[in-house]
Order: sequence, then structure tokens, then C-alpha cells
Amino acid sequence: MRDIAIIGGGLVGLCAALALQHPARRITIIEAGNFDPQPARGLAARSLALSFSSVQIFRALGLWQAIEAQAAPIRHIHVSARARWGVTRLHADDYRLDALGYVIENQALSDCLLQAVQASELIELQQNASFASIDQDALVNIGYRQQNRRRQLKVRLALVADGAQSQARQALGIDHRRIDYGQSVVISNVEVDMPQADTAYERFTAQGPLAMLPLGGRRYACVWTLQPDRAAEVCGLDDVGFAAALQDSFGFRLGLIEAVSARFSLPLQRTSAVALQAGRCLLIGNAANALHPVAGQSFNLALRDVAGLYELLCDQSLAELDAGGIAPLAEKYERQRIAEQRQVIRYGDGLVSMFSNELPLLDQARAAALGLLDLLPALKAQAALSGMGMTFGGNRLLRGHL
Ligand SMILES: Cc1cc2nc3c(=O)[nH]c(=O)nc-3n(C[C@H](O)[C@H](O)[C@H](O)COP(=O)(O)OP(=O)(O)OC[C@H]3O[C@@H](n4cnc5c(N)ncnc54)[C@H](O)[C@@H]3O)c2cc1C
Repeated sequence: MRDIAIIGGGLVGLCAALALQHPARRITIIEAGNFDPQPARGLAARSLALSFSSVQIFRALGLWQAIEAQAAPIRHIHVSARARWGVTRLHADDYRLDALGYVIENQALSDCLLQAVQASELIELQQNASFASIDQDALVNIGYRQQNRRRQLKVRLALVADGAQSQARQALGIDHRRIDYGQSVVISNVEVDMPQADTAYERFTAQGPLAMLPLGGRRYACVWTLQPDRAAEVCGLDDVGFAAALQDSFGFRLGLIEAVSARFSLPLQRTSAVALQAGRCLLIGNAANALHPVAGQSFNLALRDVAGLYELLCDQSLAELDAGGIAPLAEKYERQRIAEQRQVIRYGDGLVSMFSNELPLLDQARAAALGLLDLLPALKAQAALSGMGMTFGGNRLLRGHL
């Protein structure tokens, strides 16, 4: 028998396995896909912004050195509103930090995590293995299909990490809510001719926020929120037309936009499960909350969920938990994590509604708010702490050790 099963080996499932294997727990990951090497994607690669809290967790797990080597630091954040005077700047130095966050290509992060998983004697990775069924008695019984064979696994605890459309969540009878913000986000990587070292930009335009995240060198990842019809329109433009439209919205702070990757657009949505636990099964990652990418928080929040769960588990052996301890632990996990999840969701929703509204008075108000924020160090520090994921108390992993 294994101790923990993780259904879904995406970024969150892999991180959860790497954290919860300590101390000496045997973990099986059931992943529908496989990890065959992907061709290098260069300008077309997807990327993630890692908050300071995620860096601390990776440090604790002994993974940070490998991840940092692939990541671009964000040492300055410049927040502005198009055609308005208000500007706010955040600097890592002001908080005695080396960086406020980092940007890394999803593939590079996944490769680092996979390498660590494969090096672990405690983690078993079942690839091309599709979740099929789940039932619970004194243990959790998970059925999955692999190479046309039905397989069974018995564990003490199961983590459901199979993404926003989670089948395991559905099999557990946990409902979810989908909020549609009525906007779309356009994703593209670009190359500019005047990169500003280690600087990320968040620019509020009449249609919504536009972020430019440094990928290192002249490359930036662009996350651009637009009305759906405008998003479809800019995605339909050729490279020159798209670069010109982006340049018009972003301005010339990074000089000329010289090259753009393929564009794709997603509806701006959020999916949240109505509960985080059912018996011996806990929801984590996108299966629990898939937030819109504008605030860049889903993965960072999920890692803090992992850190919270690690803290709850680390003083008890799973055998001790067998003696009736799982239900209180699962309820505690839900209680503790729901409070922070709601705060992050409110922050993301606030960003969308405050900064995606074309009313002229609101336009003036947000410009004034940005200007004021720059003059109020305490408020600015609060905003910085929130972006770093450090507002909700500490635990071992967030302090950077096991
Ligand atoms: C454009 C964009 C930009 C983003 N930027 C940021 C950012 O800057 N910062 C941030 O924190 N977050 C960001 N996010 C969110 C982040 O990408 C997600 O939170 C994160 O990838 C979720 O990982 P996950 O492992 O929970 O889910 P997923 O990545 O969906 O992984 C689920 C895994 O489960 C597997 N699976 C599915 N069904 C089954 C099954 N039946 N059986 C077995 N396995 C199954 C899948 O193959 C997959 O590997 C962004 C998201 C988008 C779309």
C-alpha cells in the first residue's frame, strides 16, 4: 500500500509530491499524459510568474538552485495607467529582497520538477494513466486505466490535482462554480529593442490590464486583457499588425516591439470548487481554484496550499492519522486554506472590475489611486506583500525550510 496518491501530475501535482514525501512517505502520481521531451519553444513558450512565497517553498524543498538557473528575476515593478499620470513603482531593494518574484517558462519548471521526482525513491510516477474511479472506506481506493489495463491503488490520503475540469472532483460529488468575467486574455511573447533590466510592467488600459513580464534578454511575456471581440480581432492580425496594436496600448517604455510569437486567447474565467475535501480526499491546484491569469496567482496560491498541508501533516504519521485523524485534518486544511483563497480571489476580482471599466470617472480615480499608492509606503508595502504571497502568516515551508 502507498501512503498518498496524487491524481494529476501537472505542476501542482509534482510539487505536492516533492513536498509531502517528507518524511519518508510513499507517494504515487497518476498522470494521464506523459513527460516525453518537448522541443524547445523559444519565443512561443508559455511562462509563469513565481511569487516570493513560491521561491521560499522551492528553497525549502532544495529545488530553488535548479529553478533559479532557468528563471528571470523581477526586481522592479512599474504600474501605470495608459494616458494618465499616476504611476507606482515597487523595488526589491526597498524590502531588502533580491527579487520581488521570478518568471520561468512552464516547460523549464516542469523539467526541474520532473527531474527531482525521478530522483526520489519515495515517489512513483505512473504516466499514461487515466483516473477512472474513486471510493472510500477505511482507505481510498482509486481505479485508473493504463495501457488498456484497469489498475487499482489503495492509499491513506488522496490529493485531487487533475486540473480545472477535474474528473476526480466530479467523481467525489464536489460541485464547482464558474465565473465568467466577460473578457478575454491574449497571450504572446515579444522581443523589444530597449529591455529594462529585471523590470515587470503592469499597465491599465481602457479595456483592461496589460502585463509585460521579463523573460531575460530582450524577451517579454505579454498578458493582455481585452473585450472578447477586440481580443479576437488582435489575434487575427498578422505579426506587424499585432505588434503595432500592442505598441499602441503599451507605449514605448521598452522601445520598439520588434518580434512577436503566435498569439492565443482565453476567456477570462475562474473555476472554484465549493469544497476542498471529501473524506480522505483533498482538492489542490486548479482542481480547487483555477483563477484568471491576470493576477498571476493560481500556481503560487496552490503552492501555498501545499505548504499549508505539509504543515498539518508534518507532525503526524499517516498511521496516526488512520486512527480517526484524517477527518479533522481535512476539515482543518479546508478551514485554513479557504480564508486565504478567498482573499486572493477578491484581490483578482477587484483588479478585473476596478481596472477593466471604461467609465471616465473611474479612469481618473484609478490614476489618482496609483499616484497616491506611490506616496504611501505602508500601503505600498501591503500591496507588495500581497503580490509576494506573504500576507497570511507563516509555516515551515514559507520560512524556507522543511
Ligand atoms: C495564460 C496563463 C498564465 C498563467 N500565469 C500564471 C502566473 O503567472 N502565476 C501563477 O501562479 N499562475 C499562473 N497561471 C496558472 C497556472 O498555470 C496554473 O495554476 C497551474 O498550471 C495549474 O496546475 P495544476 O497542476 O493544478 O493543473 P493542470 O496544469 O491543469 O494539470 C492537471 C494535470 O492532471 C492531468 N489529468 C487531467 N485529467 C486526468 C485524469 N483523468 N487522470 C490523470 N491525470 C489527469 C493532466 O494531464 C495534467 O497534467 C497561468 C495560467 C494561464 C492559463
